[in-house]
Amino acid sequence: MTSKYADVILPLPIDATFTYLIPQQQENRVGVGSRVIVPFGRSKFYTAIVWKIHTVAPVDFEVKSIALVLDDSPVLLPYQFKLWKWISDYYLCTLGDVYKAALPAGLKLESETVIQLNLDFKLDHRLSDKENQILNILEEEEEIAISKLTRRLEGVNLMPVIKKLLEAKAIELKEELKSRYKPKTERMIALVDRYQEERELSLLFEELNRAPKQQELVMKYIELSGWLTNKKPLEIARKKLLDEANISSAICTALVKRGVFYCYSQNKTRLEDFLEEVEVEDAHELSEPQGRAYEEIISSFQDKDVTLLHGVTASGKTEVYIKLIEYFLKQGKQVLYLLPEIALTTQITARLKRVFGNQLGVYHSRFSDAERVEVWMKQLSESPFQVILGVRSSVFLPFKNLGLIIIDEEHETTYKQQDPAPRYHARDLSIVLTTLLGGKSLLGTATPSIESWDNTQKGKYGLVQLSERFKEVKLPHIIPVDIKELFRKKRMIGQFSPVLVEQMTEAFERKEQVILFQNRRGYAPLIECTACGWVPKCTSCDVSLTLHKGLNVLSCHYCGHTEIPPHKCPSCGGEELSQRGFGTERIEDEVKRIFPQARCTRMDFDTTRTKKSYEQIISSFQSGEANVLIGTQMVSKGLDFDKVSVVGILNADTMLNYPDFRSYERAFQMIAQVAGRAGRKEKQGIVILQTKSIDHPIIQQVISNDYEGMVRDQLTERRLFSYPPYFRLIYVYLKHRDSVVLDRAANLMAGKLRLVFNNRVLGPDNPPVARIQGLYIKKLVLKIETGSSIKQARYSLRIIQEEVIRSPGAKSLQVYYDVDPM
Ligand code: ADP
Ligand code: ZN
Ligand code: ZN
Repeated sequence: MTSKYADVILPLPIDATFTYLIPQQQENRVGVGSRVIVPFGRSKFYTAIVWKIHTVAPVDFEVKSIALVLDDSPVLLPYQFKLWKWISDYYLCTLGDVYKAALPAGLKLESETVIQLNLDFKLDHRLSDKENQILNILEEEEEIAISKLTRRLEGVNLMPVIKKLLEAKAIELKEELKSRYKPKTERMIALVDRYQEERELSLLFEELNRAPKQQELVMKYIELSGWLTNKKPLEIARKKLLDEANISSAICTALVKRGVFYCYSQNKTRLEDFLEEVEVEDAHELSEPQGRAYEEIISSFQDKDVTLLHGVTASGKTEVYIKLIEYFLKQGKQVLYLLPEIALTTQITARLKRVFGNQLGVYHSRFSDAERVEVWMKQLSESPFQVILGVRSSVFLPFKNLGLIIIDEEHETTYKQQDPAPRYHARDLSIVLTTLLGGKSLLGTATPSIESWDNTQKGKYGLVQLSERFKEVKLPHIIPVDIKELFRKKRMIGQFSPVLVEQMTEAFERKEQVILFQNRRGYAPLIECTACGWVPKCTSCDVSLTLHKGLNVLSCHYCGHTEIPPHKCPSCGGEELSQRGFGTERIEDEVKRIFPQARCTRMDFDTTRTKKSYEQIISSFQSGEANVLIGTQMVSKGLDFDKVSVVGILNADTMLNYPDFRSYERAFQMIAQVAGRAGRKEKQGIVILQTKSIDHPIIQQVISNDYEGMVRDQLTERRLFSYPPYFRLIYVYLKHRDSVVLDRAANLMAGKLRLVFNNRVLGPDNPPVARIQGLYIKKLVLKIETGSSIKQARYSLRIIQEEVIRSPGAKSLQVYYDVDPM
């Protein structure tokens, strides 16, 4: 009989698959997409994913066996392999990188396998010496990593012995590692069979006359379990029974002892909020312009796989999406609805749940890993969620029948993963995915990215416009305020211009609400010695530390390092340390000082660490408990509140002055989006736009809502300076602990790249933050004409990278790429 082999992917940044022998007795359990544990290197074990099964025995190395098969059925669908492969090719990373990003942690095992003694083990055969040796060690140590064991028992071929012990159940893989995911269990109560007959049951009731509490509990059970309606009692959760009956658990225990109830554990879903039967309502009737947009999208999908819905803020794009989802569900297709930010899921979940009930699942990182595993497994089951609402990483979920991906706020940069690899863009990946599956993608936004807009102009994407707000409410009136002048004349009240103070005061009087936007978190981004100019810096990164007043710590936003702020300047001993710059926390303090009527809530990275915190902030603002919402860019994205009449942008300049070719585009998008939070229902809102660059062209374009004008200007510049969409960018980063080694390697790489790509190579340069966590960084930029072969370029890059890494003295040099950087 020919042996079978599996090529597997390991969760490692290695650019290859590895071949293992499938043990004969396991052959029918191993399929493409199953997880297996394999030995790797001298003594490590990893969870790997089976990529391919074949009968070609490797000839140039001794093949090892798969140690353990974890799944009876695959955790990946065949198309997902194609997607993974595409990602690793396009974004210049390894399959292992993709594997790590794609699967929730509970489905993979990166650390080394640990074994432990099985305490229930009963010996039924004589142990070999080696087996004994291992068991003795385990009695001493309780548990041990296989790699460590290998070192202790040098020279012993361990794996067969461990396998034998595993098969004999003398030892086990430590549960948390074998599968970090554990089902959640629940104690259940059921009526013993005997009493399921009416006669027996009535005798029981009589008997319990002397134990009225027990009688009461059995009554409650009968009521809750549905006996009266369907004559067949169902099990119910013990906790629910006790809560509803309001009876102590001792009574229940007594009934179990008496042989009336069974009590046992059952696996319980973590997704109960989503699985509950709920009453659904009809979707809102579309307004006439919305209905037209809907029809146009459907007809655009006839000949375009991707369509852009360009709809002004509060035009009702979400309502159009809901109708489209219904359309695809009717055809038996699944829909993925992507959002750029977790903050948004709260509101949209509520809106979708109203219509789609328990067909809707949600997937994002504020869910526990176990919950994510359950969503993943449900998507593989016979009854998957038909609609998934999620952030970036949900493009990795398995879909059996995906028909449509909606990418809401498609211009948002949070769709691009920055670190670690794969540095993918969820919008672009969605388009690849739906093309692969024969589905459609809908991009929606009030401020399209220049790339997407350009694709509509070239006819690559369809374009549908929705240019009025729902109920014809006017777009907000934007009032620019020159704060440079006001600061000079000393007429500013803290960070507030007189007109902003006036507008806010009036809004409070009318019982309306205000959103304040400050593009920074923390209290004051910097403290500075007024005498010598000293600023606290991170010890391992090239950045200044940010002050967080609430916690009274200085912290590094790159590596997380924190320290207590000094009382005196450590450099000159000066006692006056002043605060420079204004974060959200400081704005909150000023608001409280200036406006006695204000009740603030703040939304930024620091106030939204837990799953519930978003909901709390949003619901406190929605209910009117708070009347001011202060936030970073999180508040600029798609939130929908009825009573906001004034939006204040405290300082537009940080956005305008950011050194990046996209900064104008981004500033336009951000200002237009924040402004779009004002006056969404009924009457026109007011936006106070404070800036020190009042003559900046972007300011004028935002005020007149001249999106196309902005794009025209930007395209001219982009063409002139060879940027997207005319050129494709690849950033090449090199990292090393030693700056001399790094410089040499970066110059070597630049030279080699120039031989192939000529003047399309820029650098090496220092990136804005040139040292992170003790590693120096250099950056090269590669510009490739859109339309020329990116495949060829990738091939050359990989070869040059190998040469540089192998060059003398370049040991432990790291090279990585950011393709289509944002
Ligand atoms: P957008 O996503 O374009 O910013 P939304 O879909 O959030 O706009 O719509 C703005 C507000 O108007 C929401 O509160 C929404 O419920 C309401 N709305 C929009 N269209 C309708 C409609 N057809 N029927 C009822 N309410 C609507
Ligand atoms: Zn000083
Ligand atoms: Zn740091």
